[in-house]
Amino acid sequence: MDTITPEMRSKVMSAIHSRDTLPEMRVRKMLWANGYRFRVCDKRIVGHPDIVVPKCRTLIEVRGCFWHQHGWEWDGRKLVQTSICPTATRPKSNRAFWNAKFRRNVCRDAEHEKAWAADGWNLIVVWECALKTEKEREKTFAFILRHLKENEIH
Ligand SMILES: [Zn+2]
Repeated sequence: MDTITPEMRSKVMSAIHSRDTLPEMRVRKMLWANGYRFRVCDKRIVGHPDIVVPKCRTLIEVRGCFWHQHGWEWDGRKLVQTSICPTATRPKSNRAFWNAKFRRNVCRDAEHEKAWAADGWNLIVVWECALKTEKEREKTFAFILRHLKENEIH
């Protein structure tokens, strides 16, 4: 039985096509302005990470707090909450559907992270909520640039 309302389905579908989102474009623009060259959604790397900065052996993932359930982690059996983000809500209806969906998303992220680490990639996960205000962006961008500088390959 199909228990997904049309409104929910369109929400799910739009998340699948969430390429070139505003938060991601902001990070890309910042990198470019600071002289870093990068590849976007590299098909040669498992999980097609959002941004690859080869010069710093670094991957940058810009994650939406709702879809990737910011603050929830996969402990190998279930999702556990490690911090609280107000955007990482759980819809009240169709619980089973959403729980399964979030479980898949968080679990997939964890698998990709493991594979990237095994291949020697550094990873920066940028949560959408860390880019909302100008002040937050400033802090987040400073963190990214510091990390890139430290990991630059000469
Ligand atoms: Zn968040």
